[in-house]
Amino acid sequence: MTEVQVRATTFEVRAPATGEVIARYPEHNAAEVADAVAMARTAAPAWAVLSFAERGRLLDRWRGEIARGADTLAEVINAEVGKPVSDARLEIVMALQHLAWAAKNAGSVLGRRRMPSDLMTINQAATLEYSPLGVVGVIGPWNYPVFTPLSSLSFALAAGNAVVFKPSEYSPGVGEWLVRAFERAVLEHPVLHLVTGSGATGAALCESGVDKIGFTGSTATGKKVMAACARSLTPVLMECGGKDALIVDADADLHAAADAAVWGALSNAGQTCLGVERVYVHELVYDQFLDRVLAAAKDVRAGAKIGPITMPSQVAVIRAHIQDALDRGGRAVLGGLDAIDGQFVQPTILVDVPEDALAVTEETFGPTMTIAKVDDMDQAVELVNASRYHLGVTIFARGRGDEIARRIRAGGVAINAFVAYATVPTLPLGGVGDSGFGRVHGPDGLREFTYPKAVTRQRFLSPLALTTFARTEFTDRVVRVLTTLLHGRKR
Ligand code: NDP
Repeated sequence: MTEVQVRATTFEVRAPATGEVIARYPEHNAAEVADAVAMARTAAPAWAVLSFAERGRLLDRWRGEIARGADTLAEVINAEVGKPVSDARLEIVMALQHLAWAAKNAGSVLGRRRMPSDLMTINQAATLEYSPLGVVGVIGPWNYPVFTPLSSLSFALAAGNAVVFKPSEYSPGVGEWLVRAFERAVLEHPVLHLVTGSGATGAALCESGVDKIGFTGSTATGKKVMAACARSLTPVLMECGGKDALIVDADADLHAAADAAVWGALSNAGQTCLGVERVYVHELVYDQFLDRVLAAAKDVRAGAKIGPITMPSQVAVIRAHIQDALDRGGRAVLGGLDAIDGQFVQPTILVDVPEDALAVTEETFGPTMTIAKVDDMDQAVELVNASRYHLGVTIFARGRGDEIARRIRAGGVAINAFVAYATVPTLPLGGVGDSGFGRVHGPDGLREFTYPKAVTRQRFLSPLALTTFARTEFTDRVVRVLTTLLHGRKR
């Protein structure tokens, strides 16, 4: 018997498609979480003192290990969350792109650099560097069980932190695979530790004294995480839910827009934080767009091109949103309540849905979308921005894409392509409002797991001794003159 089987407290992982138990994992308690944090803390200093180039080389080894095992990892993703294997492979390569970027660029983003001083501080040599926080706790969701946690893990590690990772209880095997790959690749630095379990294990991580929590998950859980972290003033990164919209202007490439809407709403069975859940289409092209979407969506079948709904409880949410939309006068032009069969939900497209319906206001997390007609792009922008979620928005427009993008309140906007901002390694990813705060990816994603350290070195004595009780009346007079000269002439 393995250690896992003899433990009193374990939890089961079930295949979403069949409900069959495929694995058991330990439900780590607070003491075990504390042990993992202590091990990470012991290993952290030796990792933190490595040069950025040395850490980068070790992270590159991890990247190679993941890439070589990508087929196996994709199978684990498929088994645990039900995602088609080819989509799982795509997720892995996207995650590796960001890992490569973080490993290569951490030095230039975080390393020590000289900063200018000013007239009053001219005798000070100023430098800035971004230091690792110590031990970071990463709490991940199941829907992109590689891409999403790696967005925090890669950047926290590249910045010089040790990490304790708590994957979702729906994808612990994926989390374990990633951590074991790190252990094989970076034997000499045990700086990535795994804890498994339910929300209670995540809660214990929040209270374990880690130096930051990188949380990705729903807004409701994010609020609990923040409340727990507030007690110890543990800083948090919040990558939370979304209700992303796609806008189609009258001059848009309708073929491309429909293709993006269908992929954006239905891929991963709609279980995507950045998934398209609402579409606003200029009235001049609404009918043509809808026809194209319907033509493309009818070939997407749950059980073939998309998988089942991973969490059994989510099916009830999807059903409630469709029911509410229909009760309020909406129409299902594809799918509908009949589209739900156990854990499988066929694509559902809803029109004429009022803006205060659940299908428009709340995260559905299923293969559904509402499509609404708008008079013009002003109305589209107003309706998009009316949401409490502000994660990402996609715009299809030929002439006014940039102008519309500037007026959108969201962490990311993609013009004429779906979620491109999440794939460009130099760009930050994150939300505003109920979608959270803080960023992963790019320079902001590296700084997220550091603290800025300001250092000055006095190069020579200042002719004006300001911060001393020996300050003279002459110095006070000079300060008064300087105050007027530097600031007092501004009107
Ligand atoms: P949940 O909020 O249910 O869970 C997220 C993680 O938090 C899981 O590991 C979960 O553990 C853990 N958790 C649950 N309760 C607590 C607690 N009290 N304290 C600490 N941790 C806890 O989200 P899902 O896993 O269902 O993921 C889907 C959500 O994630 C969607 O809302 C989606 O929009 C969002 N998301 C956001 C992204 C972004 O970039 N903004 C990216 C991907 C997803 P357990 O699973 O064991 O309950």
